[in-house]
Amino acid sequence: MASTHDVVIVGAGHGGAQVAAALRQHGFTGSVTLVGDEPGLPYERPPLSKDYLSGETPFERLLIHPPAFWRDRDVEVRSGRRVIEVDPREHRVVCDDGSMIGYSHLVWAAGGAARTLSCPGHDLRGVYTVRTVADSDRIRAELPAVTRVVVIGGGYIGLEAAAVLGSAGKHVTVVEAQDRVLARVAGVQLARFYENEHRARGVGIRLGATVECLEGNDSRVAGVRLADGELLPCELVIVGIGIAPSVGPLLAAGAQDGGRVGGVAVDKSCHTTLPDVFAIGDCAAHRNHFADGELIRLESVQNANDQAAVVARTLCGEDAEYDAVPWFWSKQYDLRLQTAGLSSGHDQSVVRGDPATRRFSVVYLRDGVVVALDCVNAVKDYVQGKKLVTGRLWVDPATLADPAVALKDLTPSATAAPH
Ligand code: NAP
Repeated sequence: MASTHDVVIVGAGHGGAQVAAALRQHGFTGSVTLVGDEPGLPYERPPLSKDYLSGETPFERLLIHPPAFWRDRDVEVRSGRRVIEVDPREHRVVCDDGSMIGYSHLVWAAGGAARTLSCPGHDLRGVYTVRTVADSDRIRAELPAVTRVVVIGGGYIGLEAAAVLGSAGKHVTVVEAQDRVLARVAGVQLARFYENEHRARGVGIRLGATVECLEGNDSRVAGVRLADGELLPCELVIVGIGIAPSVGPLLAAGAQDGGRVGGVAVDKSCHTTLPDVFAIGDCAAHRNHFADGELIRLESVQNANDQAAVVARTLCGEDAEYDAVPWFWSKQYDLRLQTAGLSSGHDQSVVRGDPATRRFSVVYLRDGVVVALDCVNAVKDYVQGKKLVTGRLWVDPATLADPAVALKDLTPSATAAPH
């Protein structure tokens, strides 16, 4: 017999936790249940490849809210359970322990699972992804016996892990399939800057490199063989090659998928095509104003939190639509990268400041309009530049390039671009 709740949230990451918190903040008095497949309470994922991996931040500091928060707000957290089936007709979900939970509204915030390698040797001991606290714990437990690490994938996960492990004295090599690091998330000048920073600290970077197989000794990884024949000996491999959105049960129930971008399709208010079912966060394929209305998925804490707020407001009877400017951040060594907007499709980029000073920004324009900024140790540019992105403003590239001119001072003279 299924118990029934007004709102059932699947996925206890940033997005799921924020839906529950925001519902109560908006005065929602119905029953709220949060189902997560990891043990314990919702926690922050960004530190897993940064200061949690380095051991600087203890797990308690990762909790999004302390235990009392959930109790006081009467949010039931059912952890250690994976939803394996959605029955949209009966309005209920089935968990992997056989339990069933009925819902009036379902919010799918299940995110994604780390992609794994499929080449020979992918299942050797000592090969890890970084997506959960258990992943980071396993890596940390092995580190004392490890000298050489190969990181496969030069995205945020790979580079942040490389920075932590390189700083801990490990010999680290990053293997990236594309011809530059951060290819999915940042422009070429920024990629080159980060490659240089890593190399200057002794981290090897192999670009345009294909992994042929992982070689082992006694079923434990001993090296990564590249397609050109080179062997990179190592005792530990970190795989950071992206995520696969976790939407299987929703698609099996008949929800429309996200097509080319994967995930599940949602409208401006995050409704899926199933009745009374929303989806948010990494797995939600939505038309984004800052990507010229293209269907995209955004894998970021910002997107998870902002879409969560939209769903909570909608459930509380408001007309809410997702229209937030995307932003991201990364921490590698003493470099704080903050990104506002989406740079893909830009036709011009302007560097503000000298990268050699390790404080600069790259501003991306499309048809003369500022669409994104990557800011390295340049908080003012980030805060002020975000407003240029939000306002879709035309600005003079020559003035933009002058770091002596504050971005906020550009705003009044700029003209809003037509939508
Ligand atoms: P990612 O950003 O997708 O980067 C993975 C990189 O690995 C891509 O350039 C990919 O190239 C490359 N790659 C794929 N297969 C490969 C292979 N077999 N050999 C070598 N390179 C390969 O993913 P990620 O860094 O794993 O991050 C996972 C998720 O965590 C993302 O959602 C990310 O945004 C999030 N995250 C965010 C932050 C942050 O915001 N600071 C930090 C950590 C993680 P292709 O594009 O060709 O596949």
